[in-house]
Amino acid sequence: MRIILLGNIGVGKGTQAKRLSDAHGICHISTGHILRKHVQKDTGIGKEAKKYLDKGLLVPDETVCKLVAERLDDPDCRKGYVLDGFPRSLPQAQALERILMDRQEEIDSVIQITVPEEEIVERLTARRSCPKCGAVYNLKFNPPKDDEVCDQEECEGQALVQREDDKEETIRDRFHVYEQKTKPILAFYAQRGILHKVDGSGLAPDAVFEKIESIVSEHGVV
Ligand code: AMP
Repeated sequence: MRIILLGNIGVGKGTQAKRLSDAHGICHISTGHILRKHVQKDTGIGKEAKKYLDKGLLVPDETVCKLVAERLDDPDCRKGYVLDGFPRSLPQAQALERILMDRQEEIDSVIQITVPEEEIVERLTARRSCPKCGAVYNLKFNPPKDDEVCDQEECEGQALVQREDDKEETIRDRFHVYEQKTKPILAFYAQRGILHKVDGSGLAPDAVFEKIESIVSEHGVV
């Protein structure tokens, strides 16, 4: 099964991608996560990417496409994968087509999750994550047991952090990037007849996942 999760920032792509990955034993590929790891490790790619991540701008297409192509070569991707946060521009969608052609693979479904912008701002400004294990919490909707501290025992009371790009003014810039660069991809996949929409407004992650699963069982190769 090969799925792309599309949608504005903060609509819950990461949460739903993790669920799909757990439920179907497929690989979860988040370009944001891969890039943040590079930044954390201070690699060459990380040094370059940080400038873009901090401002909420897109990292150059070439860099991201190379990272995805390499990741798809890993053995755990053979059973399938869910792409989260990629592609994010028309050139990336076109590059992905070439990558998939070389691999003789096809995307089964592209699922777009929609949530109104004001609801996204409310969600993202309350998002916190553990810098040790990467677990993601939401202070309003999915709070940790103890105040702003990771629940995982092995993280030993690690304080949660807010992503630099989840501050309100950066969120507004990222909406703009989504409108300009990412939205054109929707027509690209609609033309191919594989785009499906899920309205996630006001819904808890379980309810959104139920909708996604029904699309996957109808259109995905399970
Ligand atoms: P995300 O975790 O998906 O919200 O991504 C966080 C940040 O990583 C984005 O704001 C971009 O700076 C960068 N990023 C993630 N995925 C991509 C992509 N496909 N193309 C370019 N930049 C990306």
